[in-house]
Amino acid sequence: PATRRWCFADQLGPHFLDRPDQPVLLIESKAVFARRRFHRQKAHLVLSALRHRAAELGDQAELRQVHTYAEALDRVREPLSVCAPTTWSSRDYVLRRPDLAVLAARGFVATQEEFAGWAERRGRQRLLMEDFYRDNRRRHDVLMDGVEPVGGRWNLDHDNREPPPSDGRLDVPEPWWPEEDEIDERVRADLDRWEADGDVAFVGDDGPRLFPANRQEALYRLRDFLDTRLGAFGPHEDAMLDGDRWMAHSLLSPALNLGLLDPVEVVHAAERRYRDSVAMSDPLPLNSVEGFVRQVMGWRDYIWHTYWHFGRDFRHANALAAHEPVPEWLADLADGAVDAACLSDVLGDLRRDGWVHHIPRLMVLGNYALQRGIDPLAMTDWFHRTFVDGYDWVMVANVVGMSQHADGGLLATKPYAAGGAYIDRMSDYCGGCRYDPRKRLGEDACPFTAGYWAFLERNRERLAPNQRMRRALQGLDRLKGLEEVVEQERLRGTEAI
Ligand code: SF4
Repeated sequence: PATRRWCFADQLGPHFLDRPDQPVLLIESKAVFARRRFHRQKAHLVLSALRHRAAELGDQAELRQVHTYAEALDRVREPLSVCAPTTWSSRDYVLRRPDLAVLAARGFVATQEEFAGWAERRGRQRLLMEDFYRDNRRRHDVLMDGVEPVGGRWNLDHDNREPPPSDGRLDVPEPWWPEEDEIDERVRADLDRWEADGDVAFVGDDGPRLFPANRQEALYRLRDFLDTRLGAFGPHEDAMLDGDRWMAHSLLSPALNLGLLDPVEVVHAAERRYRDSVAMSDPLPLNSVEGFVRQVMGWRDYIWHTYWHFGRDFRHANALAAHEPVPEWLADLADGAVDAACLSDVLGDLRRDGWVHHIPRLMVLGNYALQRGIDPLAMTDWFHRTFVDGYDWVMVANVVGMSQHADGGLLATKPYAAGGAYIDRMSDYCGGCRYDPRKRLGEDACPFTAGYWAFLERNRERLAPNQRMRRALQGLDRLKGLEEVVEQERLRGTEAI
């Protein structure tokens, strides 16, 4: 018989078991929540998913509710195996325990060996996401016609950079929402009690659970996305709308990161839907399908593998010497603290839902932290705790590497810094803002526009060797009033804007 499998709270799908009837150990550790201030809805989702898995497995699983993992493991008498967990610290922990057989990680498209082989073949060349993504598609035969990509092009991003629609909404139905059950009721009561007892503290609002907590719900959400939103996903995937926070996004990242869905099944389902649509002579737009596949087996997989590939010190990289602490208003997701329309809307959504899509993360929140020189590790921790889909592996590479450029350009060829003009083009925020995206000086100077120039000036020497920054730095030399802008932004610092 298969040995008992310890499944972590982000290993909750069937693909973490070797056979459907394998005995399972689940551990609910309160200490995880006591150590840091998570978004209330993230704590709810994780506990709810773990308890749903226990309920679904019935006698096959034992759920131990303890303070620490060791308390539960020390009482296990039979052999126990575990799929390699998703963080450096938890991997160290399982490897230190002689009573655990540690298997290869699951829940990603490429194995760690496959990524290592690819990286080795690249030799001294940059490990670009685009190249890895193509390799992944070839190896797993996704959206391929023989050795060529379907449609003849690998990358249809060019078609996926549309500004938002002018009427302020995408023409797609509301996403499917899960219904809470008695497990959620008990989770809510437990979290209320822990909070009242002072054992834990949260940020963000409590609210109806919006993300799947079990396999069936995850499959519903996947099907709903494929049925109603996949075709519209691509063109506006980088746009932001004040009145439409979901747009055509899949909302699948929490379910994928809890392990409820296997990314391989997700990309195959999207491809099947595309091929069926072609067979019915009503093809889904390929740029939407490819854009979605790229998110799942390109970006998500690449972020996972770079987390390991660049080693345990990757998280400490700080190439731009950014040392400002996370300001309190941001840490607390304070209501009403911010006037800037873009940041205010994004923070409001985050407070309410524990989720915003990738562009508010990168180009509003990340861009703000980058411009203001906030410590990248502190931002990584903040993103990890505040987003329902945040985990250490996903945030280290995304924040330290992609959004804060703290790795000096290992992941992204240039910093994702942008002024108000970018936000104005890609959203409908600026029209209703007290700031003016075109202004860099004075009372109504946009803090993103002024912050962009101040960021460039502060990092002028560090960025000078980067060819892709040459034009931006030349612009800095031509800028009138640069000194005043820099002084204005120095005084503004990380005060709420
Ligand atoms: Fe944001 Fe500046 Fe636009 Fe206001 S003007 S919404 S602060 S980018």
